[in-house]
This record gives sequence, structure tokens and C-alpha cells, in this order.
Amino acid sequence: MTTEPVQGSPALSSTSTDAVSLETPQSEPLLPDVLPYIQHGFETIQVQAGYNAAEHNHAVSVPIYQTTAFDLGSAERADALFGFESDDALYTRMGNPTVAVLEQRVAALHAGAFAPAPTAIALASGMAAITYALFNAAGRGGRILTNYRLYGGTVDAFTHIYPELGLGIDLVEDADDLAAYEAAITADTRALFVESVSNPLMAVADLEALADIAHAHGIVLIVDNTLATPYLLNPFEYGADVVVYSATKALSGHGNVIAGIVVESGTFDYASDTYPQFSQPLWFLRDGNDVPRTILQIFSTNPFCGRILAVYLNYLGAALSPFDAYLILQGVETLSLRVKKQVANAQALVSWLEGDSRVAWVSYPTATESPYRDLAAKYLPRGAGSIVSFGFAGTEQQKRRFLDAVRLWGYQANIGDARSLIINPAETTHIELTPAARAAAGLRSETIRLSLGLEDSADLIADLAQALTQAFA
Ligand SMILES: *Cc1c(COP(=O)(O)O)cnc(C)c1O
Repeated sequence: MTTEPVQGSPALSSTSTDAVSLETPQSEPLLPDVLPYIQHGFETIQVQAGYNAAEHNHAVSVPIYQTTAFDLGSAERADALFGFESDDALYTRMGNPTVAVLEQRVAALHAGAFAPAPTAIALASGMAAITYALFNAAGRGGRILTNYRLYGGTVDAFTHIYPELGLGIDLVEDADDLAAYEAAITADTRALFVESVSNPLMAVADLEALADIAHAHGIVLIVDNTLATPYLLNPFEYGADVVVYSATKALSGHGNVIAGIVVESGTFDYASDTYPQFSQPLWFLRDGNDVPRTILQIFSTNPFCGRILAVYLNYLGAALSPFDAYLILQGVETLSLRVKKQVANAQALVSWLEGDSRVAWVSYPTATESPYRDLAAKYLPRGAGSIVSFGFAGTEQQKRRFLDAVRLWGYQANIGDARSLIINPAETTHIELTPAARAAAGLRSETIRLSLGLEDSADLIADLAQALTQAFA
């Protein structure tokens, strides 16, 4: 260990910063384990949780561990690593220190009295996060109950790809009809899956009611919280059991990475007969005496993420790269600040769009005509997010002219970026949907989706105004 003089960091100790100590500082991170997170605010957690510089040569910025493998050290240590008996890294597909900081930080952003010890696992994309979470819950022969109001790729995967792989999906027609979920649950249903705030129409799900329905049937509620972000909504607070993110979007927030994250509350009991995949002894999890063990035995506090690691990352392999984890960590440091500004920009755009005759309707949870105002007041008191959709009140030809005429807005299939983005989802991000699925999702061809960035709202409005003028000229 180093014997260099080390200045006490005010963040890490309460001793005077003038005192120069010859001792190695205590390896106490500011937020050593999950319980203390609850005592810290969101903005403290987003910059500090999960990282102890003293464990990384006192590097202030989280180091990028760009390495495939980690030295096993000794035969005894190799036994522990391969026997899932140590959290130390072994091979980057199965764990990496940079990725681990991201996982701990995002988990900490979800901690609270309702979920004192959440855990997270980072993956190579939001689609990998959704896929692994749903397959993990479904096990063999299980079905997932959801609705059409989802990210386009998800609906397509549900109706065409997942069934090919043995995962059955049931879709309720009206995503707001709680009785429809209740009626559609069968003995094979293993999870309810919803977007807390939907892409692109910003419908707000009644998470508490959905969690009650799921729990009454002994199954989990899995929530895609990508649009809301953990800053605006912590689904665990309302009974959700698993939260998934496309970290590609607001968590990283700079349009430079593809990533996903699954977070589990740590409060759901997977020991029931509904989820045999967590209680079955597995040979590859055997102990030193060749006795097969179960997921619940090895990952007692984080069985959901543990099984994603041991089964899906291990064998299907959508691992996040350390460099990409670093980029997301950088983004997470400013998450709340970016989201606050984006919410303010979204509100400004909503007010402006509502007053323009070339706009047929505006879809945002706090918009004047929104049917989700009450749910937004309950679930999104800090703001309703950075996406605003509206109906273009012109011909198809005029709509295309409008899209071609915007200058400041990026015409891109992305959201949650620092830059403001615009798109026509029915013809792009949601093109996979059949006309029937599009109708069930409420997605009409006139829909224009805006993703608010960090620019001056006056400039964004002026650019839309000139593009509308050109389109209708
Ligand atoms: C983008 C997105 C996804 C897919 O995430 P990728 O990182 O692109 O794989 C899933 N859900 C929602 C709500 C999204 O916006």
C-alpha cells in the first residue's frame, strides 16, 4: 500500500483538510453501502455514490478499466471467482470495475425506505435490458402481459421475435384500462410490463394500481422508466419490482452511447412456485463439493440481477463496455440539472404549441387537454419529462416540408440528448408497428415528437415557427 502523504478529502472524512496524514486514509467511501444512500439527496448521489477514490489510486474521475480479463492470482482465488463467491472482476463480460461503479450509482438513485438496497446490472442496450428482464421473469413457458403503448422496437419484438424464442406476450388493447390487465392475467403470466411515461405520446401509467394488480397475483411489475428518468420518478416508491432503462437516452444524455440498465428493488420474494427458475439447483452454480446451488442461494439479496448475470450475460452476452460505462457516469453526474432544464423547455414549447392554429393537439402530461394531468400530479411532481408530441394540422406533403425546414432541431431517431431533436415516429421509430398496433398505441401519422434539449427555448420556438411558416407557405 502507498505510504505517500495523503490530504484528507473533505468529501471522505470530517478531519481538517489542512492536516497531512502519513497514514493511508480509511477506505471508507462516502456512501459505503446502500443504507446511507437514503440519507443523501439525489444530487449528492448522482455525483458521488458507488465510487471510492482511495480504492483507485485516488483518481478523481472514475478510471476506465479497459481490460478483458483480471488476473486470477492464485488457484484458491480462482475457485472463489469461478464459484460466484467473490464480487471481484474476472472477465469483463461478467463484470468490470468501471461498469460496477455505474451499476452502484444508478442503483443508489433508486434507494429509499421502500427499497433500501436496490441493485442494478448494466447491459449493452436498452433493448438488451428489456429482453433480459422479460426473459428472466418469464422463465420457461411464462408469459408477459403488456400494452401497445411502448417503444416501437419493443412492440415488434413482442409480436414477432420473442414468441419465436418461446416467450409469450399478451397485450391489452386499452393501456389505461386497469380491469383489462386484471382480466388478462392467466396462470402463465409472470410479469406486467409498462412504460411509466410512454414513448412518444407521454401517457402516464398508474403504477401503484398496476403494482397492486401484479402483487395480488404474485407476479412482478416491470417498468420501463426511460422517459421519466429516476430524477422525475422512482417506480419502486409505487410498488414496481424491476425498472429498466435505455441508458442511451437521458441517463447518459449526450447522444454518444448505446446502453441499458436493469434495477431490482430487492424486496420481491422470488422463492414462490411462480418463479422456479430462481429455486432450481444448477450445475454451473455448484459449490466446491460439486453440490449444485440455486440462484436464490448465491444471489440472496439480488436474485433478479444475479440471474441476469449468471444466465443471460454469461450465455447471451450483451455486456456494456467500460468506456461506455464511463460516458454514462459522466452523464449521470448532471442528470437532475439537465432534466430540470429540459422540463422547463418542454413547458415553454407546450404553451407555445397550444396557441398555434397549425397544431391540432399537444400531448404532454401537464398539457391543458391531457387526460393524464391527475396521474402526472401524483407521479411526476418534479415535471413530466423532456418529450412533447403534437399533431401537425396540415397535409402529409406539408408535414414533410416542415421536417425538411427545421434547422436547430436535429432530425434523429433518439431522445434525451443535450440537443433538441424532432421526428415523425409513425414513419420512423415506430415503423415496425402494424396499422392495428399503431392505432392501439394512439400513434397517428400526423404525430411529431420533440425531445427537448438544453438550448434556449426562444431559439427552439423561433425555429419551429419559421419551419411551420415554410411548410404552410
Ligand atoms: C430507446 C428506447 C428503448 C431502446 O433502447 P436502446 O438503448 O436503443 O436499445 C427502450 N425503451 C424506450 C422507452 C426507449 O426510448
